[in-house]
Amino acid sequence: MDNKYDVVIVGGGPAGLSAGIYTARDKLKTLLIEKGIIGGKITEAELVDNFPGYPQGISGLELTGKMHQQATKFGLKELNAEVISVEVDNERRVVKTTAGDFIARALIIAGGSDWFKLGVPGEKELTGRGVSYCSTCDAPLFADKHVAVIGGGDTALFEALHLAKFAARVTVIHRRDEFRAFIAVQEKAFAEPKIELLLNTVVEAIEGQDVVQRLRLKRADSGKKYVLEVDGVFIAVGLKPNTDYLREVLPLDEQGRIIVDSGMRTKVAAVFAAGDIRSNSIRQTIAAAGDGAIAAITAKNDIEQ
Ligand code: NAP
Repeated sequence: MDNKYDVVIVGGGPAGLSAGIYTARDKLKTLLIEKGIIGGKITEAELVDNFPGYPQGISGLELTGKMHQQATKFGLKELNAEVISVEVDNERRVVKTTAGDFIARALIIAGGSDWFKLGVPGEKELTGRGVSYCSTCDAPLFADKHVAVIGGGDTALFEALHLAKFAARVTVIHRRDEFRAFIAVQEKAFAEPKIELLLNTVVEAIEGQDVVQRLRLKRADSGKKYVLEVDGVFIAVGLKPNTDYLREVLPLDEQGRIIVDSGMRTKVAAVFAAGDIRSNSIRQTIAAAGDGAIAAITAKNDIEQ
């Protein structure tokens, strides 16, 4: 495989795919590197109903599938590999991956995020045995069962709504008494009779013999501790940017996100960041796609100066 490119894009979610559509269409030789599945985290969303142009809504998988098709049509090349490190000097950016090294005139980092862990006893041991981070993947396993969802953002409530199609009972456990999710999503979730809410409540441990059987809970206000019997628990407590390998290369903000200017330039010449991975992102699919377009146009202008 060729190892020299005008543009290398790290990450195949909406930001990376959008950047790829722009650079490939502009005849820049472009390689997109993705370690998981093309489309990124949003492929787990059953319904995206706020992306302009889809009044009936569209699944994340279908939406990113269309982006992928469009980028490929313009000649985007792709590689399934994990980026291990990035080395930058004045002339070139070297991207070291599990499938070899690639040299780029411009590098666009759009590697998104991974799920945060709750960090309680039992979580790691019971992952795949009742602990899950993806209802789209695992909801059918909980038909007619009682499941808990931890978190108060859009992901948690979308997970709860999806789970309600299968499970007998869905308990959303949130550490505060106000949700972070959009009001429209809250209204939908609260109208679902199978969904019940446990507010001001934190999970202290996940327990069970071989599979999840119960949660040890604590009221955040009174400190009262009790046990809730469940058959599964879906954890949706936010996203951690995939920037560990960049700590020595690029300035990051306190949450580990990449600091960029309005053109998506990082502090390092010809290195750009787009989507959830960049500082102050509003973490929406449409914004990620917009970031990708901006990064691609700025990259083209900068390297062709
Ligand atoms: P998020 O908005 O960051 O919400 C994370 C939730 O987890 C918050 O309610 C937070 O509580 C809670 N939390 C964090 N750490 C916790 C801990 N240690 N213990 C208990 N609870 C904890 O993350 P998200 O819901 O994954 O959403 C991420 C972004 O994706 C958002 O911008 C969202 O709008 C977007 N999104 C969009 C869609 C869609 O449009 N289809 C679907 C999913 C997500 P606090 O509120 O107390 O901080």
